Amino acid sequence: MKLLGIETSCDDTSVALVDETGATLFLETLGQETLHERYGGVVPELASRAHAQILPTLVQKAFQETGTNTSDLLAIAVTRGPGLSGSLLVGVSFAKGLAFSHSLPIVPVHHVIAHLRGAFDRVSDLRGKTLGLVVSGGHTHLYDVTRWPKLKRISRTVDDAAGETFDKGGKLMGLPFPGGPSIERMAKSNTRPTFPLTKGPIRTEDPMNFSFSGMKTAFSLKLRQALLSTDGSLSAEDQALWSDSLQTAILDHLFSRINKVIELESPETFLLGGGVAINQVLRERMGALCQKHGINLLMAPPKLCGDNALSIAQIGLDSMLQGLFTPFPYRDLSVQARWDPSE
Ligand code: AMP
Ligand code: MG
Repeated sequence: MKLLGIETSCDDTSVALVDETGATLFLETLGQETLHERYGGVVPELASRAHAQILPTLVQKAFQETGTNTSDLLAIAVTRGPGLSGSLLVGVSFAKGLAFSHSLPIVPVHHVIAHLRGAFDRVSDLRGKTLGLVVSGGHTHLYDVTRWPKLKRISRTVDDAAGETFDKGGKLMGLPFPGGPSIERMAKSNTRPTFPLTKGPIRTEDPMNFSFSGMKTAFSLKLRQALLSTDGSLSAEDQALWSDSLQTAILDHLFSRINKVIELESPETFLLGGGVAINQVLRERMGALCQKHGINLLMAPPKLCGDNALSIAQIGLDSMLQGLFTPFPYRDLSVQARWDPSE
């Protein structure tokens, strides 16, 4: 028996097939960067239309390449939320239609929990007190995940996410969309000392919460000032310096909280997931910190950092083994664009 995973929460259409042991039979993720590039951000209407166009073909490809029929499926796991309503609806409606034809159970999956699921192979890999950080385009959230799959939120961003900050910085500098990988690439070539980005007053009472909006404003104002003395664009050398400075400021802010939570909670295991977790500098700093404290660090491998259906399928399998699913005819199964995983 096989389990099909579907992920369409934002601008990646992803399909995966796993067997009953959780082994990957198929994984393909098609991004929509070229579609949204000229707008400098994801346009929800375009994203959902593209999912509707791509998803059936991608599922057909998964079935053809693995010799699978709908009758071979144990269940279908699909992202229910959080995300863009229109995008989520495409995935959930497709899953319902396909499952309906064979009365298959559906496992509705939380997107943020899936980002953390990408960090480990088996639930038994989680040892002792376990914390998890999700850093993506929409989330910068820290959880106590000791009672997996139950999440207890420790802190969150009170305004923008780390990924959004990378993306906004890249857009302001005229770098290719999305900003995260462009900034990391540019920062690598910087040879000059970075400059600080004053964050301004952080609008949160809780010192464990994250806040990036002040840093974004500081970057934007400073850049506007610098551009006044040029023809309106930055040299490649300056792009490298500005990229490195923004990347350092974002990571320093993340680590100010990570350091504190490690001190307070003394975790045995730490999970890192989400699109920003692919950042090599973040991974190296995380590795050094966890090594210093003797923490078992589990990071999502690069192909599972961003939105992907394999993590969805794996949660689907975990849930089926526990008897947790929505049975045919899927009453009450709809999308949940806003959904706190610690609820
Ligand atoms: P997700 O929200 O999980 O789909 O991840 C997308 C986010 O990850 C976007 O904000 C990207 O800019 C960000 N991202 C992707 N690659 C990198 C990178 N190398 N460094 C920093 N952020 C990145
Ligand atoms: Mg995501």
